[in-house]
This record gives sequence, C-alpha cells and structure tokens, in this order.
Amino acid sequence: MASSGIETILERIHAAERPDRADLSRILRIADPVEMASLTGYADAVRRRFVGNGVLLRGIIEFSNVCRNTCQYCGLNRRNTRLARYRLSRDQILTAVQNICGAGIKTIVLQSGEEDNLDADWLREVIAGIRSFLDAAVTLCVGERSREEYRIWKEAGADRYLLKIETSDPGLYRGLHPGMSFENRTRCLEDLAALGYQVGSGNLVGLKGQTVASLAGDLEFFKRGGFDMISVSPFIPHSQTPLAGEPAGDLEMTVKMIALTRILCPTAHIPASTAIGSLHGRDERPRALAAGANVIMPNFTPGDVRRLYDIYPGKAGCDLTPQRGVAAVERMATAMGRWVDYARGDALRLTRTAPGQDSPREASSDAGLAKALYN
Ligand code: SF4
Repeated sequence: MASSGIETILERIHAAERPDRADLSRILRIADPVEMASLTGYADAVRRRFVGNGVLLRGIIEFSNVCRNTCQYCGLNRRNTRLARYRLSRDQILTAVQNICGAGIKTIVLQSGEEDNLDADWLREVIAGIRSFLDAAVTLCVGERSREEYRIWKEAGADRYLLKIETSDPGLYRGLHPGMSFENRTRCLEDLAALGYQVGSGNLVGLKGQTVASLAGDLEFFKRGGFDMISVSPFIPHSQTPLAGEPAGDLEMTVKMIALTRILCPTAHIPASTAIGSLHGRDERPRALAAGANVIMPNFTPGDVRRLYDIYPGKAGCDLTPQRGVAAVERMATAMGRWVDYARGDALRLTRTAPGQDSPREASSDAGLAKALYN
C-alpha cells in the first residue's frame, strides 16, 4: 500500500471515537520505512497542532524501592532478595524537591514501589510539606491503594496520579501479575478520576505473550479512558525476574505505539520514557519525541540510591547529576527545533480546549470512566 493509503487509515484512526481494530493492526504491522515515516510524520503533526513544540519536564524522585508485588517483568519485585531496599526520609525528599525547584521545573513526581507499609499520613505530610513552599504540581505514582488513601493525598495537594495498566489484556495481565487483579487496577483508575486527579496510564511493549491484537487493545483502552497522560515503554528484561531470558521490546513497535497513541489521544501528555533512552544502551528518546511524545522526566533521586531503583537494568542517566540531565534534554530539544517548556503542563482539558478536538473527558466523563474502561 502506498503511503497515501496509510494516511487515509491514519485520518480514520484520528477521527474515530472507536477506532477500527483492523486499522490499528494494519498500522502496527508496518515494516516499510516509507510507511513508518508517514506514520511518525502524521503523529508529529498532530503533536505540534495539539500540544505544541515545547518539551515539558517532570522532575522525578524515586523515594522507595520497597514493593509487596511480584510483577514478572520488574526488578523491584519482592522476590528479588539481591536488591538492597531503601526508603528516603521526608527531609531527603524535600531536599530533592528543592533541587527540582532550583532547576526551574514545576512538576514533582513522587514514585515508589507498592509498599505494604506506606503510611498514608506520612505521605500526606510530605505532599503538604511540598505544597507549603512550592507552587508546583505534585504527581504520585505509588500503585494500587484504597480510595480513602487517594482522597487523603488529593486533599493534601496532590494533582496527578500515574498508574500504568501495562497490558489491557486481562489474561496476559493475570499471568504477569500474580496475586493482583485487572479489576482492582481499573477500580483504582476510576477512583482517581472520580476524585479529580489528572490521571495517567500506559503500557509496556514486548511483554511475553503480547500480540498485535493485545497492543491494539491497549490503544483502544487509552482512547476509552480519556487519560491525561499516557506512557508507552519498551519491556527490558531483568536478570532477577522470571522473564530474565526474554527478548527486550522492539524499538520500532514502541515508536509505532507512541505515534498511534498521539493520533488517537491528541491532547494527552506522552513521555519519551527513560526506558526508551535505555534500550540497547542508546538514547532513543529523540525517536519518541519525533513520533508524538512531548514530555521528559529528569531523575532527581539522590545519587547514592538511584541505582537501587532497579526496575530494569542499564537505566540511562544514572551517572548524570540532575543539572546535567536537564542540560542534555535542553540540547536534545534544541537539536530537534523544539524547546524545553518549564511550565506545570497540566492536563489540557483543565487549561484550554485544544483546537478542533473536544476534551478527552467529554468523551468519557470522570463518572463514566468505569463504564468506558470496561466497554
Ligand atoms: S511494577 Fe511496580 S508494583 Fe510491580 S513489582 Fe515493580 S514496583 Fe512493584
């Protein structure tokens, strides 16, 4: 099929409220470089039109690597007894927050494993402490919690929450997440939306047993959920997991997924993830930025524990000071004719209606998210 045929399909996907599964699968099977260029070019144009040329920065603090779960792909799984565990104190977190603030970044991401003993009041005090001296957005990424905990943290000043689904295929989800349930994951996403969080989700590309059909299902899930942030990352095998011997996710498929996510969800904030910057030891984040991504998350975790947040091996930027990490993003953005945007970068549905596109949440309102996710 000529690239003009590809563009017709992309137009259809972009305009659809419910994209056709055959169209998504056709694009995910692209192997021809000319068709690939058409796909990324289309996604880049959508990105430019809906979220502009800025590259938003989110300063991330990985404050604990303790986790109760045994996700089959993750080096933080509790069965990895070779990993030294840590949790930063409130003061250590606030010092890292000041470093983010000093770099001019206005979004703080507090991320951890899913700790059994995470005290909701302790985290509430950390959030309130940040909000007491800083007018920055606070994003949480601490896993599946009760609605009451989510409420406490929202009232303390948290703005956003990231909870990746990793795969929307319930059977695959079950196999990869012993003791966890797809239903509870989506319950969390519903609760977060209903409480007024800006909600992010996402997936992993290249999981064992994942098919083109399951990836197309992930894209449909993103569209139905109307998420404010969507992260698409390649799977990278970790030696201390059951998937140690599996191949890493394919970069080209990851780029296709990012491009399709942008085309389907034009106003979402989409990161060029650190995992893309780490795959095969090369920094491929410019590929993601050129295919629809508009966010980068520099790491402000203190240097002495940063290597212990060992979700996957070979994590890029572990040796860089946060200042050098930000400078590298500045150079990357400039080389692409883009610029680093130091704004908070809230969900566009809260700040403006993107031209020519209804708010994602108008298509699936907060109250209707549950229905949307299950349909
Ligand atoms: S993916 Fe998250 S919940 Fe699962 S083992 Fe890793 S840190 Fe824990």
